[in-house]
Amino acid sequence: MPFRTLIRTVLSQATADVTSDRAFQNLSERFPITPTVLANADAKEIEEAIRVAGLYRNKSKAIKNLSQVILDQFDGALDFIYTLPVEEARRKLVGLPGVGAKTADVVLLFCTESPVIPVDTHVNRVSRRLGLAPLDGNYEEIREALQNLYQPKEYLLVHLLLISLGRKYCMARRILCRSCPVNTMCPSRKNSD
Ligand code: SF4
Repeated sequence: MPFRTLIRTVLSQATADVTSDRAFQNLSERFPITPTVLANADAKEIEEAIRVAGLYRNKSKAIKNLSQVILDQFDGALDFIYTLPVEEARRKLVGLPGVGAKTADVVLLFCTESPVIPVDTHVNRVSRRLGLAPLDGNYEEIREALQNLYQPKEYLLVHLLLISLGRKYCMARRILCRSCPVNTMCPSRKNSD
């Protein structure tokens, strides 16, 4: 369901995976995740539900505002993502307040299996270390480099595997190259963990 995925992704912005998952769980337990309910919910109540996530005050405002705009502009449904060509759907999503390219791509990939590879913090770091994307590439350059390397039917798997590598072996400040399963093909491999 695209709206749930959108809200989950907004909560994950600049927040660790575990805490954003918990915030979404708390929010889901307190409210039905629909634009109508969240646009009309008390901002303080949303804040309380998502407090575990970073920037919860800003995110509460962002969620209410986003919900209201989806109600006003799209009658509360993001069904256009299922019918429009992917670039057009992407443009409409990015036009929503607080929705950037990564959030739009997550919604498109996970809800419609559109041929896009979202570049989150793990995908960004790991793909550059592996030499799959330009070191100084911006979001679009990294996305394009990855999409050119793989078949569209592989995009979801590539996205998930790069995230998994980034969580388990190739963290931002700690890299476990010795045990990393792709160390023989990695130009950034270090010999000490
Ligand atoms: S070998 Fe090291 S730098 Fe390369 S992907 Fe694995 S953990 Fe990251």
